[in-house]
Amino acid sequence: MWTLHAAPVKKSCIFMTLVLLFLLFMASVPVHAAGRAQEPGDKVVVVIDPGHGGENLGTTQNAAYMEKDLTMTTALAMYDELSRFEGVEVYLARTEDEDLTLKERAEFAAEKDADLLVSIHYNASESHASFGSEVWISLEPEYHAYGYQFATVVMRQLRDLGMHLRGIKTRVDSKGKDYYGVIRESVALGVPAVIVEHCHVDQAEDALHCDTEEDQRAFGISDAHAVAKYFGLKSDSLGVDYSDYPTTLPDVSLTEMVPRAKYDDTPPEACTIELDEAFYSEGRVLLFVNASDKDSNLIYYTYSLDGGKTVSKLQAWPVGDILTGVYEEGFLLELEIPDGVTPDICVRAYNAYDLFTESNVLHFTQAFDGAESQEEGSGQGQGELAIEGTDPSEDAEMQDGTPLLVPAGTPLSEKSSAVEDVLSVLRYLIPVVFLIFMILLILYLFSGGGHSGQTR
Ligand SMILES: [Zn+2]
Repeated sequence: MWTLHAAPVKKSCIFMTLVLLFLLFMASVPVHAAGRAQEPGDKVVVVIDPGHGGENLGTTQNAAYMEKDLTMTTALAMYDELSRFEGVEVYLARTEDEDLTLKERAEFAAEKDADLLVSIHYNASESHASFGSEVWISLEPEYHAYGYQFATVVMRQLRDLGMHLRGIKTRVDSKGKDYYGVIRESVALGVPAVIVEHCHVDQAEDALHCDTEEDQRAFGISDAHAVAKYFGLKSDSLGVDYSDYPTTLPDVSLTEMVPRAKYDDTPPEACTIELDEAFYSEGRVLLFVNASDKDSNLIYYTYSLDGGKTVSKLQAWPVGDILTGVYEEGFLLELEIPDGVTPDICVRAYNAYDLFTESNVLHFTQAFDGAESQEEGSGQGQGELAIEGTDPSEDAEMQDGTPLLVPAGTPLSEKSSAVEDVLSVLRYLIPVVFLIFMILLILYLFSGGGHSGQTR
């Protein structure tokens, strides 16, 4: 039944095989190779949710303002700006100083048939040392894809405002669902939702980004343009047209999470330092810092001159791009060593979930000279401690009067970005070449040119 009479069915067999191969190939191509994965209705509906309100103050870690007020100022500016675009309907989840439950916010968005809920927040950390912006998105497949693409635009905007980027992230609760209620409740009602944490109100440099009403409004205007870019909107009154913007969104799958946005509960796998050169008479040392985390991005480092007993304040991880996940191998760190100090140097690398790994210790046997000039540079974080997450008990305080060190991070290599470029070109080229080949082959087989198909 199966084995004989191959010749008469040869042509259709070849054809079926080709079709199967083609389907297999298409299945392996990402569901959305480019552009926006989400398809909104004719009119885009956006709900802006000013976080907290009423009795729910949000963070009060900055004496000058409460989070619930900051979020309102930002949300109102976002509302005004976004309302100036065509083809969009904008709503505020609250306009009064009232405390809505997370479910009520989600239900409001679902009632409006929202394409997106943007929950506006400001951040604070237990250590008061963290700085930068982050966006939380859903871990449910489709909503994850939409959230990731939108969050990318939010992050691009925030980077332009000078913010350090802490990442686009997900967080899981004990039931394996989205940890953050407003995301979980919205997604349960079919509304894509994200939380934007604009900056840390309890960290000196970050607080400078939100300490005036103008700053708080700037975040809202930035978010409005992120929405407009994501949905490809235009505004005659603002004179901007983002119709083509969605083509710049990163590739996402509708079934798989973006690996670097997955919840990461393990610290970086490795952090090592290596001496490049010590300048004893100048009170200066150069070292190579290397670290890796296969799960999430590296976002900060700290350094210590006493083997880890006291550490510098958090520094931005200077190489790599959290929006592309492309990292250089490491960086060259220059430290200034105070007069008379014989240092034991080590470095900690922090990932996007604030977990760190400490490097090996470089022991010196000779004291450094010439450090009086350091006193001037000591404004950088003197007396501030950067203790995060995993190991608070062990860390002593920065000794009083210890001149602080001014590091300079310089990338070591940029090889990975060239490789990425070639890969991204290939990704688009291969399917096109394959398709042309298939069409030509099928045409050839059916045009009578294929002898095997003409055996009768
Ligand atoms: Zn908040």
